[in-house]
Amino acid sequence: LRVSGKHNDLEEVGRTPRHHTFFEMLGNFSFGDYFKAQAIQFAWDLLTEVYKIDKSKLWVTVYEKDDEAHDLWLKLTDVDPQKIQRLGDKDNFWSMGDTGPCGPCTEIHYDHGPEYGDDENGPAGETDRYVEIWNLVFMQYERNAKGELNAIPKPSIDTGMGLERLAAVLQGVYSNYDTDFFQPIIKKAAELANVSYGSNKATDDALRVIADHLRATAFLIGDGVMPSNEGKGYVLRRIARRAIRYGVRLGLKEPFMYILADTLITQMGDIYPELSQREVFIKEVIRGEEERFLETLEKGLQILHREFGKLKKPEPLPGKIVFQLHDTFGFPMDLTRLIAREKGFEIDEVGYQSHMERQKQTARSNWKGSGDQQLNKVYYDLASEHSTTFVGYSKTKSTAKIVALLNTENQQIKSLQSGETGVVILDRSPFYAESGGQVGDLGFIVSSSAKALVKDTQRPVGEAIHHQVMVESGQLQLGEAYETAIDYKRREHIKRNHTATHLLHSALRTVLGTHVMQKGSLVDPNRLRFDFSHHKSLTNDEINQIEKMVQDEIFRNTTLGVHNCSMDEAKAKGALALFGEKYGDEVRVIDVPGFSTELCGGTHVSSTGDIGLFHITSESGVSAGVRRIEALTGNGALEHLKRQKVNMQAIAATLKTTPDKLPTLVQKLLDDKKQLEKALAKAQKELASAQAGDLKQGMRTINGIQVIAAEFDGPPKALREEADKLRDQLGSAVIVLGSRQKGVKIIAAVTKDLAGKKVHAGDLIRYIAPKIGGGGGGRPDMAQAGGKSPQGLPDALEATFSYILNL
Ligand code: ATP
Ligand code: MG
Repeated sequence: LRVSGKHNDLEEVGRTPRHHTFFEMLGNFSFGDYFKAQAIQFAWDLLTEVYKIDKSKLWVTVYEKDDEAHDLWLKLTDVDPQKIQRLGDKDNFWSMGDTGPCGPCTEIHYDHGPEYGDDENGPAGETDRYVEIWNLVFMQYERNAKGELNAIPKPSIDTGMGLERLAAVLQGVYSNYDTDFFQPIIKKAAELANVSYGSNKATDDALRVIADHLRATAFLIGDGVMPSNEGKGYVLRRIARRAIRYGVRLGLKEPFMYILADTLITQMGDIYPELSQREVFIKEVIRGEEERFLETLEKGLQILHREFGKLKKPEPLPGKIVFQLHDTFGFPMDLTRLIAREKGFEIDEVGYQSHMERQKQTARSNWKGSGDQQLNKVYYDLASEHSTTFVGYSKTKSTAKIVALLNTENQQIKSLQSGETGVVILDRSPFYAESGGQVGDLGFIVSSSAKALVKDTQRPVGEAIHHQVMVESGQLQLGEAYETAIDYKRREHIKRNHTATHLLHSALRTVLGTHVMQKGSLVDPNRLRFDFSHHKSLTNDEINQIEKMVQDEIFRNTTLGVHNCSMDEAKAKGALALFGEKYGDEVRVIDVPGFSTELCGGTHVSSTGDIGLFHITSESGVSAGVRRIEALTGNGALEHLKRQKVNMQAIAATLKTTPDKLPTLVQKLLDDKKQLEKALAKAQKELASAQAGDLKQGMRTINGIQVIAAEFDGPPKALREEADKLRDQLGSAVIVLGSRQKGVKIIAAVTKDLAGKKVHAGDLIRYIAPKIGGGGGGRPDMAQAGGKSPQGLPDALEATFSYILNL
């Protein structure tokens, strides 16, 4: 993935026909075995004899001072001598960094022909007519800090050939994007955006960038990287968001990348099974990232364009704005730069970096407090002098000597008195220091005259185990021997939970799929908590299945195997390791034969039956694509189930039934409730229409107009609905209804045929409202009034008839 450091091709992508962020590099290596001659011969042979590339199209460049390579090309191959060029450090001397292994290289280029440029002078001219397909690096020096080159004892070969470039040559196309690697994705993207590829440069660039970035995004996620704001997660986010923004420029308003992932996975899933195994997960993560970014993108762009309006070229976009866009709207800096450049602006990168730095510092100081530097140094010093032998895998007690003591100020002291707290470091210890999710042990350090309580155990640096103690009586003395003992009952619970965590991990992978990866874990005496990558909540069915798998394995009472071996052996056994975790050369493997194999430094039961019982208590989401399971084992699980039983019995007693009959009874109660609600609604409706009937009875016809003016026996807020109903029923009428609940309110409704022509509801209301001591008004078809004198309502209603009569 060439998106950072010395090799960064991010900004070339889409602009050139041959640069990608993510690409596949083929190569061959030799460490002190064959060297220049064979490397050159192999390469020429493969390209011209196996792939049958036309020799007259191939050019070679060699390092200007590397006569040896130059002569070997002439002697060993039939390359056209006119097509060998000598180039300088920039092109033909390879190094990964300023110091370290390096050496001259020789590159093989392909000439796409005069249609792509009239430059006859070969790759030295650096036009896109010639494409570098293969670089053979001759690693023969090491460059030291002074810049001097020293020969290395075993000169090595490291070659790299871009698969996509080779494919373009073999498929007879000029651009990598026209090969079958990219075309299906580009076509799908074009279809989604409703544009066509090859008709407009800006559109084509966007489609190419999207296709490239989609590949990088999907592969990174398939490899366990999640979008985030730091480290590799941020590399992923930058690429993904860059693509999303190009999509938006094409007019795509909804998430689209996850749909393209489908195309990619269909295309490459059989070669890269990690893609197809994690298909759903990959798509969900991409979609989540799209949704999040699309939410803020529009706002961010608005701000950006407002800022552009204020700038005068060549003034750069202020670092503060670049930072704000990053911080508030999730715009990676290089995306802001890209957008700025489209408008002809640069960005103030230095200013941006200093804002970033300031924020990091604030975060750091809020988080830890300033004494931390100091503290670390003390711990490092301690760890370089002392290491504690951990004997707790097999023992719960041991005799040990105190090799260092710290007071609460982290100063080394000679003794710790009764009532004081501090840190004890022993030469050997049965206390497990918190790590790998397993909490630290508690217990005692005692002698005939002293007793201290161990409140926590940590191992902050190196191999020195820190026992956080409180001296209860006597004193702890540097250099003296003590008896140490952990709270072994607590440890037993921890062991059950830890082994159960391994069983759970394995069951999750079996039931949900191998995309499940551990994302966090907590093992304490009371419970276990396990976070893992998965895109959606688990169904009850899945949870039951997982629980059953683990419980069956407990019943099988399998004996655990624990052994130390090399990382390679562990991998060969298929041991699960944490992604991104650093392991030493020798690793500890916990094996539940036939069920689970995991690298782990924690403490475990000796056979699965010791766990007794396993019960999942909850399943929930932690963040996008990460789920959490909490579970109990042994007595804890039993207690939990007992509590549930007691609750169930109580509910059953209230309902006067037995727990077994609860589900049917509750269902019946719910059904009954539904029925009652229906019956109630029906009764209410009947009541209302009965009243409407009453209201209609008092209708009079005056001047050929049907008029209802009546008191309504209901809340004022129902007046309007009631009037509407009558209006619909009567077709042509004037309806005045008044309610005396909560003060007094009148509503006047006039059907369309009359409204404004014969009767104006607003005028009518104004005429009658004074009778209730109020006022009102409204539209020709609907008006209302409120008043202070409810007792005036009958008069007001009566006035309606005289109003109509006098029209
Ligand atoms: P260029 O000068 O074209 O960027 P490079 O000198 O950076 O190439 P190398 O570092 O020698 O390339 O990498 C070895 C091979 O990998 C190249 O010959 C080429 O085939 C391929 N390659 C390098 N960079 C890319 C890229 N960004 N996208 C696709 N293929 C690449
Ligand atoms: Mg390059």
